[in-house]
Amino acid sequence: MMTEKVSILLYDDEKAKAVRRFNDGRSPKYLIRTYGCQMNEHDSEGLAGMLEEMGYSPAENVQGTSLVLFNTCCVREHAELKAYSNVGALKKLKEENPGLIICVCGCMMQQEGAAEKLMKRFPFVDIAFGTHNSHLFPGMLYRLLLKGERVCDMAAPAQDIIENAPARRAGPPCAWVTIMYGCDNFCSYCVVPYVRGRERSRQPEDIIAEINRLVGEGYKEVTLLGQNVNSYGKDITGADFPALLRRINDETGICRIRFMTSHPKDLSDGLISAMRDCKRVCRQIHLPVQSGSSAVLARMNRHYTREDYLALVEKLRSAMPDIGLSTDIIVGFPGETEKDFEDTMDMVQKIRFDSAYTFIYSKRSGTAAENMEGQVPAGVKKERIRRLIEAQAAITYEKNLGCAGKAYEVLAEAVSRRGVSMLCGRNGAGMITNFAAPPELIGEFIEVKIIGANRYTLLGEII
Ligand code: SF4
Repeated sequence: MMTEKVSILLYDDEKAKAVRRFNDGRSPKYLIRTYGCQMNEHDSEGLAGMLEEMGYSPAENVQGTSLVLFNTCCVREHAELKAYSNVGALKKLKEENPGLIICVCGCMMQQEGAAEKLMKRFPFVDIAFGTHNSHLFPGMLYRLLLKGERVCDMAAPAQDIIENAPARRAGPPCAWVTIMYGCDNFCSYCVVPYVRGRERSRQPEDIIAEINRLVGEGYKEVTLLGQNVNSYGKDITGADFPALLRRINDETGICRIRFMTSHPKDLSDGLISAMRDCKRVCRQIHLPVQSGSSAVLARMNRHYTREDYLALVEKLRSAMPDIGLSTDIIVGFPGETEKDFEDTMDMVQKIRFDSAYTFIYSKRSGTAAENMEGQVPAGVKKERIRRLIEAQAAITYEKNLGCAGKAYEVLAEAVSRRGVSMLCGRNGAGMITNFAAPPELIGEFIEVKIIGANRYTLLGEII
């Protein structure tokens, strides 16, 4: 669908002010639990921003919290089951504290009938809403606080974009910036087009203005988010993703630009040139291959073959030999034979990804793959993913060891999990690096020499 300009919905600001008045100077605590991808993480930053506009402040844990919000995911069965179980676990807390407000939102709720089912199964849940109307959350909370009504609201069409809503970001120095919503691809295993709607791109000017605001707030790096960023701008005359990257590179003061996710079928020569030419665009790409078998890829409705993918990697690496390459792989898709799986293993050995997110296929209700013949037995899937994880872990470890002695510029992002005297950050290719440094250096670019590695991260020292 071509739309010259998608309609812009206003955030429910009046109701946010009304809830703030209701809170009457108190600052009740909120807690958000997020499941799933970076898009959901970033949506939660928006929901946190709204709650803070309504007078709430963040809680460390569930004890003493006035409001708990679950932002759910339905892309994988595991995340869905975990969300249900965590909502169920709050029953006792609600009995002890009937004033506790429990809300559930996100992709899982956007599935047809899911919110109603949840409200029935968990009568202690107060508010449920979907992905299309999260900007109306203040109004729902207002209804609950004022009238004591449970609210289950799935209203609002999907073809809208919300600008200028508040957000409470985790940084600086790194921020997520959504550039588009939804997906048109209908991969046969995926629910995203059903729960996030069709593709809608934000106007380039709005994205650039947001990034410049972030620069003013001290952010150094942005990750541009979309389910398939490579098809950005299809609904805006004269816009596409390579042009957007070039504009962000030239018209903002941001130091580093990353993006995800890229669908291989839409990865153009223009994008490869833009990545190569733009100094602020990091040499890193997340390019989900999903399977190394062309027959499986066809059943997945991915619109590329094994050979197409190999050729793309060749092009990327010849334009940018230092590019970091990560991927997603699904094991046990319906009809996957041992030979198909060996093709995936062969692809992994040929390409030698820097890292891979591996998943066992799980049936998703409403998708084309749900009723496909040849569902693979659970035991076979488990055995295959074990082999795949082992093979990729060995490659990642070897590649990490191969970095010893090299020097990288790393943006110090946070205190490392290894201890308070260590910081962690990523180099341009996205490799996580830990190094000894004081917390005052968070937000600085630091030259680091690699002196060691483990299976997932590098160890460096400041040069
Ligand atoms: S590109 Fe495919 S896998 Fe990715 S969100 Fe769209 S439908 Fe899902």
